Amino acid sequence: MQLQLPPGITHARFDAALAAFGRIVGSEWVLATDEDRDTYLDVYAPGNDPRFVPAAAVAPASVEEVQAIVRVANEQRIPLWPISRGKNYGYGGSAPRLSGSVVLDLGRMKRILEVNPELGYCILEPGVGFFDLYRHLTDNRIPLWMSLPGNAWGSVLGNALERGFAATPYGDHTSQLCGMEVVLPSGELVRTGMGAMSGSPNWPLFKHGFGPAWDQLFVQSNFGIVTRAGFWLMPEPAATTTLTMHAPRPEDLGWLVDVLTPLKLRRIVDHSIVVMGYMGTAAANSQRNEWYQGPGALPDEVVARILRKYGIGWWNVSLRLYGEPEMNDASEQVIRRAFAPHTQEFTVTRWKRGDAEGGAPAPSVFPLQVINWHGGRGGHLGFSPVMPASGRLVLEQLERTRARFREFGVDYSGNFYVLGRHVTNINLMLFDRDNAEMTARTHRLFEAMVQDSAAVGYAEYRTHLGYMDRVAATFDYNAHALGRLNEAVKDALDPNGILAPGKSGIWPRAYRGERGRG
Ligand code: ADP
Repeated sequence: MQLQLPPGITHARFDAALAAFGRIVGSEWVLATDEDRDTYLDVYAPGNDPRFVPAAAVAPASVEEVQAIVRVANEQRIPLWPISRGKNYGYGGSAPRLSGSVVLDLGRMKRILEVNPELGYCILEPGVGFFDLYRHLTDNRIPLWMSLPGNAWGSVLGNALERGFAATPYGDHTSQLCGMEVVLPSGELVRTGMGAMSGSPNWPLFKHGFGPAWDQLFVQSNFGIVTRAGFWLMPEPAATTTLTMHAPRPEDLGWLVDVLTPLKLRRIVDHSIVVMGYMGTAAANSQRNEWYQGPGALPDEVVARILRKYGIGWWNVSLRLYGEPEMNDASEQVIRRAFAPHTQEFTVTRWKRGDAEGGAPAPSVFPLQVINWHGGRGGHLGFSPVMPASGRLVLEQLERTRARFREFGVDYSGNFYVLGRHVTNINLMLFDRDNAEMTARTHRLFEAMVQDSAAVGYAEYRTHLGYMDRVAATFDYNAHALGRLNEAVKDALDPNGILAPGKSGIWPRAYRGERGRG
């Protein structure tokens, strides 16, 4: 990728900044060739003409180096885009929102600083991947279980900082953050919560600290660079029981949500529940042309063949009970009663402490296989609105969304996460990056869904770089008061606008003209 400079920055100034970065981290960790820039592009961007183009990357090894880089960025007005491992696939990967930004790659800071088996936490640097932590826990026989996203290639903290989640008891990953060390846009180093008291053992234990709690202000924001954080892990349960069921029709989603929500709210089922569509299985294990070569979205009779072949339902649910065996047995009976009006057909598997197989989940990247559905250079884009946990409203969302997928000739792929009072719907749009017509259709579908959802008061919990401004604009109460608050804080903390301009639709004063561009 050819060099694109940040708006208003001359070559001389950019070169001076890179030279200064090189003096801080060593020139081998300043990555500024065309090939380097390619490495940090969004790997799923359509075609060969990507929109979110980094000018370079710099990879520090310590918090002092991060601080020094931030000071240079302020002097030279160079925008930085921090990433942990940069595997934010479907949402932009490692690419920056503002072209010309320098990616601040924290992947070399990958120390597991502490793991406490008794109190169930660890303290991590941002470069620690799910695989790294899993290996550490298994190698050292530490009885703590991880909550893993479908594609576990990324960083534990990076995923939590984007509000990633998984279908486990600790599945709301951002809620497991407890205490952070942060480099502010000024270069100052702060510790949040109880970590603000020198030497406090309570840092990874008590989230609120004293006074305002800041941790969540550094999540999905551009107010600071997180250089370490406390993160809670689940103590190994005595036993688990897993109940799996399939529902054959799309409309079964309504009763599923109405049966699952009270179970979740009353903590009979104490994990994030996913109602999984058939497409994840179909696209991970086969390609579209094995089923259908015609135009438009997959017809219903093809879907019926897919369900038969894999022995799955339109919707598939796995409920897992974690606890003492007799508690799990009692909860199983409650679940069976709740499902009785609809089905009693569960496949049951049981695990108890000491069993070799079937215990702690292991990280995998297999689900990423879905991107091969169309062949060619595959990509995916996620549209992820949040809605009330009501069967009726969720079914309405499904119908609206499916109609849009059909209208744009895109194969429907949706999962619904029953998370308590709300449901998050992940729609996965799969495409061939080199098929311009298909990717254009996919983007038109995305835009239609943003507008449809906003019309009923739903927004996404997370979005791709290309839609951050669009989604932020739908938060319009009192003439966008929340956006003004975000940008007032941004300008106070980051007067030169050097940290992740445009992240989550938050633009610093220096770059406000870039809103909606790029
Ligand atoms: P993962 O590799 O787990 O998918 P990423 O490194 O891609 O996570 O991070 C996802 C997003 O979270 C980034 O694009 C960035 O906006 C934000 N982010 C990641 N790490 C940090 C960090 N250490 N400090 C501040 N923001 C971060």
